[in-house]
Amino acid sequence: MKVARFHAPGDLRIEDAPEPVAGPGEVKIRVRNCSTCGTDVKIYKHGHHHIDPPRVMGHEIAGEVVESAAPGWSAGDRVQVIAAIPCGRCAECRRGRMTVCPNQESMGYHYDGGFAEYMVVPAKVLAVDGLNRIPAGVGFAEASVAEPLACVLNGQELARVGPGDDVVVMGSGPIGCLHVRLARARGAARVFLADINPDRLAVAAALVRPDAAIHAEVEEQVAKLTDGRGADVVITAAAAGAAQEQAIRMAARQGRISFFGGLPKDNPIISCDSNLVHYRELTIVGANGSSPAHNARALELIATGAVPVADLITERLPLPDVLAAIDTVARGAAIKVTIEP
Ligand SMILES: [Zn+2]
Ligand SMILES: [Zn+2]
Repeated sequence: MKVARFHAPGDLRIEDAPEPVAGPGEVKIRVRNCSTCGTDVKIYKHGHHHIDPPRVMGHEIAGEVVESAAPGWSAGDRVQVIAAIPCGRCAECRRGRMTVCPNQESMGYHYDGGFAEYMVVPAKVLAVDGLNRIPAGVGFAEASVAEPLACVLNGQELARVGPGDDVVVMGSGPIGCLHVRLARARGAARVFLADINPDRLAVAAALVRPDAAIHAEVEEQVAKLTDGRGADVVITAAAAGAAQEQAIRMAARQGRISFFGGLPKDNPIISCDSNLVHYRELTIVGANGSSPAHNARALELIATGAVPVADLITERLPLPDVLAAIDTVARGAAIKVTIEP
């Protein structure tokens, strides 16, 4: 079979490999879709401290079971696979805080991922209910977007996005688009989408139709749109410290700020007027991936139509084109690019 294997930063190869075999408690799938995201770009360019190469990349995975050595699963089952694998046993997992499990492993990092024709779902994934049946009517490509949507869901739960909120989403990539749609599904009053790149913003805005698209002077624009109140929730879906600093200044009293996107490792310090947080009773939250339960609920949100994702998948490429796909993501030239191995 063909796989896309990471060997070193800048060195991702399409190779022939023997088909993997499902060991006890494992399931082998035919990968139908594995979607790409900014994380794949980061890994390709810089590697990752959790990846010991060579490693098959790809973590937004949907496919069909072809061989099962695990109870409850059989050939022909259509499945979606979690990306982040909590241990299920540590102090955080036992408290239900699976997104911050310190023993977390990931598909495409610790285990071979979905940029391959076939893949084995590790027993550890099954042990934490990390393999989900794809609901009827949901395609494989849509199901592969359940993983990023699960992360977005975790972020909006932590930021308590709810009815009546004015929400600002900073960053109009695929994650920003999912944030806009989920905020609407959760009853937000208005959702504003901001990006410093006007072209990317225009493409995204045409798809997800925010109440306003803001490409410059975001603080002034948000102040104007909210009669000076600020936004109830500001979500930064961009790896920019400046956006995080603006987010704190744009929040309304008792507003919530989600630092959804992380910052570059070598530049993670921002400045924050602590008195804004104090007197306005602001809440600043992080977001670290998603739990298995978030993945299951994301699939439901897609299946019920509460959060449509089909139209966000703007490019479908075969496995040999994975480098082109990563380049497209790096340039921000598409919303969601999916690989069909
Ligand atoms: Zn991803
Ligand atoms: Zn754990």
